[in-house]
Amino acid sequence: LKNTIAIVGRPNVGKSTLFNRLVGQRKAIMDNESGVTRDRHYGHGEWTGKYFTVIDTGGYVHNSDDIFEGEINKQVKLAIDEADVVLFMVDADSGMHGLDEEFANTLRRYIGKKPIYLVANKADTHARAHASGEFYALGLGDAEIFPISSQNGAGTGDLLDAVVAHF
Ligand code: GDP
Ligand code: MG
Repeated sequence: LKNTIAIVGRPNVGKSTLFNRLVGQRKAIMDNESGVTRDRHYGHGEWTGKYFTVIDTGGYVHNSDDIFEGEINKQVKLAIDEADVVLFMVDADSGMHGLDEEFANTLRRYIGKKPIYLVANKADTHARAHASGEFYALGLGDAEIFPISSQNGAGTGDLLDAVVAHF
């Protein structure tokens, strides 16, 4: 698949909400399907005349922090293998989480090999967008942080501009 974007990150940061916004349909794995384990979901979208495929990763049971290093590695490996651009999503509302650091540790070894964007979701307000600077502490090289709201769409245009520049 050409022009592929993978969204990775711990449960409940809003990966599926962004996926649905990018593909314009409610197709992703959502909370109300909890208990259903699926590895990935593909959708298609378009931005400024460029067409892309989005992969929504994460088939773990929701509302649980009970995910394991092996699952993180599997999700990241899938994303790295199949995607041209990786969106690493964190939660600007709840702030830094231990699992974010585990994802960052796994992603760090791919810096320079594949574009990785740090996406601080749930930045519904300017205050939250501003506070998302705390995620620079994840140490992902020069990765710029894109504060977005998958719910109200704020910041998603700037993010897509940066992403489709690779296509
Ligand atoms: P996933 O587990 O990473 O796929 O996360 P989901 O997309 O299922 O979203 C988890 C929860 O966060 C849901 O209740 C969403 O409605 C909520 N959510 C997603 N994006 C946003 C956002 O931009 N702002 C706010 N306030 N909530 C969001
Ligand atoms: Mg999901």
